[in-house]
Amino acid sequence: QSLVADSVIENYIRSVPNAHFSFVTPKKVMAPKLLHIATETADILGLDSAFLTSETFKNIFSGNEIGTNSKPYAMNYAGHQFGQWAGQLGDGRAINLGEINGWAVQLKGAGPTPYSRRGDGFAVLRSSIREHLCSEAMYHLGVPTTRSLALLETGEQVVRDVLYDGNPALEKGAIVCRVAPSFIRFGNFELFSAQNDLENLKKLTDFVISTYFSAITDNGKTKYLQFFKHVCKSTQQLIIEWQRVGFVHGVMNTDNMSIHGITIDYGPYGWLDDYNLDWTPNTTDHQHKRYRFGNQGDIALWNLYQLANALYPLIEDAAALETILHDFATSYSLAYTKMMCQKLGLAEILENDEDLVNQLTSNLALQETDMTIFFRLLSTIRQEETAKEAYDKITPSFYNLEQTTENTLKKWHTWFVNYLNRLQINKVTDTHRKKTMNKVNPKYVLRNYMAQLAIEEAEKGNLDLLNELHELLKKPYDEQPEYEKWFVKRPDWAHTKIGCSM
Ligand code: AMP
Ligand code: MG
Ligand code: MG
Repeated sequence: QSLVADSVIENYIRSVPNAHFSFVTPKKVMAPKLLHIATETADILGLDSAFLTSETFKNIFSGNEIGTNSKPYAMNYAGHQFGQWAGQLGDGRAINLGEINGWAVQLKGAGPTPYSRRGDGFAVLRSSIREHLCSEAMYHLGVPTTRSLALLETGEQVVRDVLYDGNPALEKGAIVCRVAPSFIRFGNFELFSAQNDLENLKKLTDFVISTYFSAITDNGKTKYLQFFKHVCKSTQQLIIEWQRVGFVHGVMNTDNMSIHGITIDYGPYGWLDDYNLDWTPNTTDHQHKRYRFGNQGDIALWNLYQLANALYPLIEDAAALETILHDFATSYSLAYTKMMCQKLGLAEILENDEDLVNQLTSNLALQETDMTIFFRLLSTIRQEETAKEAYDKITPSFYNLEQTTENTLKKWHTWFVNYLNRLQINKVTDTHRKKTMNKVNPKYVLRNYMAQLAIEEAEKGNLDLLNELHELLKKPYDEQPEYEKWFVKRPDWAHTKIGCSM
């Protein structure tokens, strides 16, 4: 039990050499209030319902009480941010409590750490709601992700810059309890490599392999190469899943890349409403749009190059690393086509399917077309329909139907002729195709405006919408007649960028 008073906490901000982590005590908060528990996450941790409603639960997950066997710590890591080496970063506002049932459990927003640099270590309600809702929504979509156990208000005020008026504003402080196999990132390896601290680099990598990659049985240098291969594979699968559901991470810095290939760090992320390869939710990088939707595969590969560099001292075989990295590009494009063919309901991939996919994605960008609604409606098409009938079925996904040009119409006509021809040799019935398509094309995703509405309500103390969205997004592929109101295009008022990072 360590209930340390503020005055004796020693966690000043500094660079921390030769260290994997630093022990930290969460800051005690004034009036913790539990806003939401994701019971599905509580289940994997094996927490029983009596504990979830107890005072102890609230105290532990607000950082006010430290569990008997818990020694909270913040992790040290470095990273490349927006393509530049950023040096030591570390958990500036995340504090690990330890493990429950083999899962690492961490509080985000529980106070400063030695790695807080210019930040305050806290999190505000809006960003915490976004993380809590989205990580659970991603899980239910089948996208690898960190999980969220609980969302709490701290009762404290946090100072933040609010973008739209430029003045610092006080906002409600909050804490999210995140859960993952581990929170180890590419940046943990980059840190030691950059410091030329090979002893700790090896220690970390050996630990990670023996703890989380038990399938790797090689020894010596090939062990590290195998590890790198695993990370490449799971990272690739992750990005393909993001592209499938229209998720844009927004800050794919190497410190936000998990070695488990799971989505981590829900900052300024966003969801595509209209299909647009150039869209990024990151309002701080509007010029270069490094983290735009269509660039996520390339950025993943760029990040893997950084990981390869970091692991190089353990492997010392540049050719072997390069082979794996080159394979990434080829296998990515295959995996992407396969995923898109599934979205189209094609039971197998044939020679011209890649063209069919490319034609489609170029058509989707001709005018604002809602990605989620488009693919959902596409599943209702029947093989014997004409191209015109098929086209008519998907027009509700257009944002400005009246602006459709002759040229656009012509391109859609061509595409539907090709698609319908392709369906003729698809070897599955319409009913079966619809069923399989609806398993990969969600009906409901956490559109940016939906999260925004839940935030506005919660800031006024009303949690109904937060609860509703959490429930809705548990079954994103199902028809949910009671929630049909969420199967709509983004409303006009939400057209401007909605996003927040801190
Ligand atoms: P992010 O862009 O959210 O991945 O954050 C990059 C780095 O900044 C990480 O090391 C974070 O821990 C740190 N950071 C972000 N927000 C804060 C904050 N409010 N206080 C302290 N550190 C922060
Ligand atoms: Mg981060
Ligand atoms: Mg963040």
